Amino acid sequence: MQSYKGRFEPTRFEDLTVTVDFHCHSACRFCIVQEGMNYYKGLPFDTYRRAVDDNREKRRYRRVTFTGGEVTMEKKLFDYVDYAHASGSFEHIRLQTNGRLMANPEFAKRLVDAGIDEFFVSLHGHDAATQDYISQRDGSFDEAMRGMENLKRLGVCLMTNTVLTTLNVAHLADIVETVRDLSPVRMEWWNYLPMEDYHDARGLLAPMSELAPALVQALARCEAHGIEAVVKYVPRCLLGGYAHTQDNTQSDVVIVEEFYDKYPKFACLYEAKCEHAEACLGLHFPYITKFGWEEARLTPYPRTTPWEEPEYGQWVGTDTPGAAEAAPGSSHPAWVALVEGVAEQHGAKLTDVILQRRACVFHFELGGSSVDVVLTARVEEGPALMRSRSFNLHYRNVVGEAKPELSSLVKAAVTSIVDRDPGGLHLDPRKGLVGAEVFRRRPRRLAAK
Ligand code: SF4
Repeated sequence: MQSYKGRFEPTRFEDLTVTVDFHCHSACRFCIVQEGMNYYKGLPFDTYRRAVDDNREKRRYRRVTFTGGEVTMEKKLFDYVDYAHASGSFEHIRLQTNGRLMANPEFAKRLVDAGIDEFFVSLHGHDAATQDYISQRDGSFDEAMRGMENLKRLGVCLMTNTVLTTLNVAHLADIVETVRDLSPVRMEWWNYLPMEDYHDARGLLAPMSELAPALVQALARCEAHGIEAVVKYVPRCLLGGYAHTQDNTQSDVVIVEEFYDKYPKFACLYEAKCEHAEACLGLHFPYITKFGWEEARLTPYPRTTPWEEPEYGQWVGTDTPGAAEAAPGSSHPAWVALVEGVAEQHGAKLTDVILQRRACVFHFELGGSSVDVVLTARVEEGPALMRSRSFNLHYRNVVGEAKPELSSLVKAAVTSIVDRDPGGLHLDPRKGLVGAEVFRRRPRRLAAK
């Protein structure tokens, strides 16, 4: 019996993450925001101002984190930080950064003087050769190290973030040694999540047979040096005596959350049996597709409370590694019914239906081409390809040469949705900030009329 998860829970609703913009001067080989750099803009200042004003009144968030891209490249960052600082409504202001520009001590001081008291710095290699290869920028390691040294001198809270891939798995404990003299209060270890390369053409996914023991060594090193450790997206039962370091929570990204549609889903063969299944997530689907379910390696913790089937549906259609095929929305019949028959009429396939808190995504494939039709909550203002009773309808991710055929397919899909939407369908309204303002203009638009 298999059951499936599709999201990160629980969200840490006391933390607010704001994407200022998506530019970056590094080009990390595993970067999960490259897609966002192409399509999304940062948070418009007016929207951000409303969120901060709201927090001044309701004190919903204790911390605001600014991220990108590389957020220190944005001149407007200081406008955002100043507004947060002046509001007096956040206990902490954090920057998520590659640390490179902080190699300039004056710039580092300027950030701290503006009110930023926590720095979450990427450290993906134990030496320059490794980190510069990963970032594809010579000198990036030395700059980040100098940046962290400058921050340390300024007395702020320093944390590191390491993304676990085949490129650094042999040196995780060495990364702890590299940074230990800077006494980071915490080192976070995030397993790589493919956002585009689901079939791992880049060879970045490390097998658990190598990753887990290397990570446990690094966690032991953290413990020996008195550094708190946090692990994300690695099965809890593979962390040995460091299972308590697993924390898959994510902060409340109220802006451009649509970006997270592309996060892979997770599953564990044993989740119905395992006490920690709800928080653990297990393995992500691209990993399962490549390496299998790891049924001999994972060890469920016996459940003491009854298991409840998660609301998200099947994506991996087989246990055989490499032979997975998307199951078209098998557990989302109400949503599939909106486009039933459309793909077949156009010689295409509906290969996935992804339900997110603020969007429903229909993924169609037609030969080697593909397109997503996206439903978001209906709002009257702003552009939309069409509006049904419940939704604004858009398309995105047009891939391949068959643009005229995809155009007909999109037109038929949105017409079908408009005709069949009974009204009253909705996604979780808790984070309703989606709007056309968060998207960049595309250079070429698909003529789907
Ligand atoms: S068995 Fe439990 S702890 Fe191990 S991966 Fe599955 S859900 Fe996580």
